Amino acid sequence: ARKKIIAGNWKMNMTPSQAVALVNELKPLVATEEADVVFCVPAIDIIPAMEAAKGSNIVIGAENMYFEEKGAYTGEIAPEMLTDAGVKYVIIGHSERREYFGESDEDVNKKVLKAFEHGITPIICCGETLAQREQGVTMDFVRMQIKIAFQNVTADQAKTAVIAYEPIWAIGTGKTATTEQAQEVCAGIRACIAEIYDEATAEAIRIQYGGSVNPATAPELFAQPDIDGGLVGGASLKADFGKIVNWK
Ligand code: 13P
Repeated sequence: ARKKIIAGNWKMNMTPSQAVALVNELKPLVATEEADVVFCVPAIDIIPAMEAAKGSNIVIGAENMYFEEKGAYTGEIAPEMLTDAGVKYVIIGHSERREYFGESDEDVNKKVLKAFEHGITPIICCGETLAQREQGVTMDFVRMQIKIAFQNVTADQAKTAVIAYEPIWAIGTGKTATTEQAQEVCAGIRACIAEIYDEATAEAIRIQYGGSVNPATAPELFAQPDIDGGLVGGASLKADFGKIVNWK
């Protein structure tokens, strides 16, 4: 069975000192053996959050990473900066990166390949807009995002990847997708992975749901056969995250 992975995405919130306070507050609340618990934090918070998380089950991740090794890319974060700081996970291709910072599926693919090259597990985001859902093209669109994101990724790498299905209309809106909607797309993503690779890879890969996950909606979502945890925005910044992590 796949181990659940529940990750917080802090987005552009929390100064370094606030990050330390939040990690200290949440540390006892997110203690569990049953799931991998990851806090994806702003780059400047990574080192202090890592320090504060020492001795706990919290793993610190990043929210973004550039696809070049190093050099003249002002303002970007290199993969080795993350690995040197001890980062194990990085969110790639969040819809906010795609929308506000122009990240394309090809950029996402380059970042995914670079993350694997450095031994960082990518949390690869996908998901449709409300217009796409209403037009009935959700699965076609998400399958395309997945196919491009996994170009030249080996089966062994793909087995260790995390995919986050985040319908854009459910992000920060308080409008969680229904359990049926979330399960349907996550199952479709797993089928897509089976087509690209094989059943073993599809069985191994972990697929999260994201979009207004809260303590009330998490239990039913996480009980679905193809939903292996969540990527949590707003609720990861408060004590609610402890309830989500201990959803059982
Ligand atoms: P919310 O949980 O705030 O809706 O954010 C979801 C998200 O975008 C996580 O990456």
